[in-house]
Amino acid sequence: QLSVRFNASQGGLLRKTQGTVHALSEVDFTLAKGETLGLIGESGSGKSTLGRAVLHLNRPSDGHVLLEGTDLTALSERDMRPFRRRMQMVFQDPFDSMNPRMTVGEIIAEPLRLQRIGSATERRARSAELLSRMGLDPAGIQRYPGQYSGGQRQRIAIARALATNPDLLVLDEPTSGLDVSMQARILNLLRDLQGEFSLSYLFISHDLGAVTYLAQRIAVLYLGRIVELAPTQTLIRNPAHPYTASLLDALPALARAGTETHLPPPQGEPPSPINPPSGCAFHPRCPKAQAICRERRPALSSSGETGHTIACHFPLHATSHAA
Ligand code: SF4
Ligand code: MG
Repeated sequence: QLSVRFNASQGGLLRKTQGTVHALSEVDFTLAKGETLGLIGESGSGKSTLGRAVLHLNRPSDGHVLLEGTDLTALSERDMRPFRRRMQMVFQDPFDSMNPRMTVGEIIAEPLRLQRIGSATERRARSAELLSRMGLDPAGIQRYPGQYSGGQRQRIAIARALATNPDLLVLDEPTSGLDVSMQARILNLLRDLQGEFSLSYLFISHDLGAVTYLAQRIAVLYLGRIVELAPTQTLIRNPAHPYTASLLDALPALARAGTETHLPPPQGEPPSPINPPSGCAFHPRCPKAQAICRERRPALSSSGETGHTIACHFPLHATSHAA
């Protein structure tokens, strides 16, 4: 039984990427076995940072990752090893994360080699088996990533992530950069693999349509904070946060059929996470903002509906919140 809990309270994690600081605050969620939690937000919202923090590729300065009750943040790198093989990542641009001089077989078996699992012969057999499960010719273990198309390379990256037989995959924009029919094939493959191997997914994407297809629940991240978390259908039909409602505008009409709230897409660029706006960080772009929104940050709290939390002073479908 897998259960992952991540939480970071105030300034939970800081990371510099090309001069950008991402801080995660008040981020708290759990992930059950076989479940997909979607994580959406614009670029710069901290989605990838959060994914890497869950896998412990970035150590949170304050915050915890619990895997079945074990606090991974408390472990040494060595004690962490048996947990590492249970969690893998599929990156946004798989070619970036593949050494072009390694064969596809070596690439897929790399996590096994690093963890010293199996003999060289066993690892080669495992690579061939995984390649074939991805619908690719197992003889391809002798080829190089440059000989494959983008969609094929994404399948190779998924094979690599599955090599250690993990429980959890963090999928960071696994379909971005692919054409629409290839995106659909990858999403279907991920759904089949999830059933076959009882995988849990943290599915990071700015593409709400793709997330909706796989996720049972969706968390919306804005400037490093979860502003809304709800079961997928609730989030799509009854978004309570103005930011979520504006993101829904980008969904294809079919996917958002039944959505009761329409707001225009968010205007302008998100503000800098280094110096976020006062109060509710969304207030400069929010069509519903009032004076209090500039002064007081809304806490993430229950919407009144089970499993639905929101951080907004004036939710769109106020139930327990007095506006
Ligand atoms: Fe908009 Fe205010 Fe809600 Fe923030 S708290 S999303 S500014 S209404
Ligand atoms: Mg990213």
